[in-house]
Amino acid sequence: MNDLIGPKSRQDLIRRGFSRRDFGRLAAFLTAGAALPFYNEAALAQGLSAMPNLPPDAVRINANENPMGPCPEAAEAIHQVIQQGGRYLYHETFAFVAALAEIEGLSKDHVMPFAGSSDPLHRAVLAFAGPNKSFVVADPGYEAGEKAAAFLGARTIKVPLRKDWAHDVQAMAQADPDAGVIYVCNPNNPTGSVTPKDDIEYIVANKPKNAIVLLDEAYIHLAKSAEPASYLVAADKDVSILRTFSKLFGMAGLRAGAALGRPDLISKLRSYSAGAMPVTGMVGATASLKVKGLVEARRKIIADIREETAEWLDKKGFAVLPSDANMLMVDVHRPGREVFSALIQEKVAIGRTWPSMPNHVRISIGTRDEMAKFRTAFGRVMNV
Ligand code: PLP
Repeated sequence: MNDLIGPKSRQDLIRRGFSRRDFGRLAAFLTAGAALPFYNEAALAQGLSAMPNLPPDAVRINANENPMGPCPEAAEAIHQVIQQGGRYLYHETFAFVAALAEIEGLSKDHVMPFAGSSDPLHRAVLAFAGPNKSFVVADPGYEAGEKAAAFLGARTIKVPLRKDWAHDVQAMAQADPDAGVIYVCNPNNPTGSVTPKDDIEYIVANKPKNAIVLLDEAYIHLAKSAEPASYLVAADKDVSILRTFSKLFGMAGLRAGAALGRPDLISKLRSYSAGAMPVTGMVGATASLKVKGLVEARRKIIADIREETAEWLDKKGFAVLPSDANMLMVDVHRPGREVFSALIQEKVAIGRTWPSMPNHVRISIGTRDEMAKFRTAFGRVMNV
């Protein structure tokens, strides 16, 4: 089975600190796809977002989904393509790549399509971390990369967010001279906080020489105060940006996303992959990109509901962290897990807690109606 890994890849693996014995495990992954535990928001959400016992009328604000779903133009494009679904329709994937490249000011060879962004996130860790090449992440941060690092035997180094809730880019740059991947999520999950452009540029300029900066921009479209960093990709820096259509574009179940990066860098992600993209996701994403004003309109709807919710919580004595995304971290003054369980009894599923902030819970922003139900249930559970 080790024959699956060619001589060039072997050299790369040895450089990253893998022993020859590890090759078998990786080869098993490449063949069976078996061992790598795969995480996304739904899998990380306590009890999964598809909680089997939740009634259909439950409020689901646990997985940073978008209750608006795909925009009408995307829904129509998907509807139209279904009849042709017996074909691979590769040209639809090429059309998606072309549309995204144009919007981001990149050439097409800097865009690699995926069915969502969890896939390239896991691949990037597999490709660039290893037993001698650590994974550096903010705390609290999105945990999927850390799980992939653990699978590889790569060390995860957690660097607390700064007091202003931005990534501590100075500490992250210095965390390990042998870092393989420095993961920056902007805006951050679970805090929704933004790391300013200067700081992103700082970490790209000051990271250890052989590390890549993996910039997860899953929530970038939701943030008024954050700027997409595709210009760093256009400048051929050691950066890969992850994009998804699961958040603002409301296509979490439909699956579309991309990795942006220098061709030599993103080609390392492809070597772990095979297969065509789901055509429904591709046409839905392309159609969404072409709707003028969609990002701004949806961003405003979500921001308005977030601010109303934040104001109410604040008035009731529960401080929230500054968020520019579709989530709020709320200080509930007691173990968040207890509040989570109490709210489930009220048919409201909220997000998980993070070990470094056990008295906070993350709530995702649902519809105005869902947030009204949340407030009623939260008021009952917290006696306010
Ligand atoms: N990255 C972050 C920070 C996320 O929060 C999520 C999902 O919630 C993802 C990546 C992956 O989402 P998807 O695989 O649906 O694109």
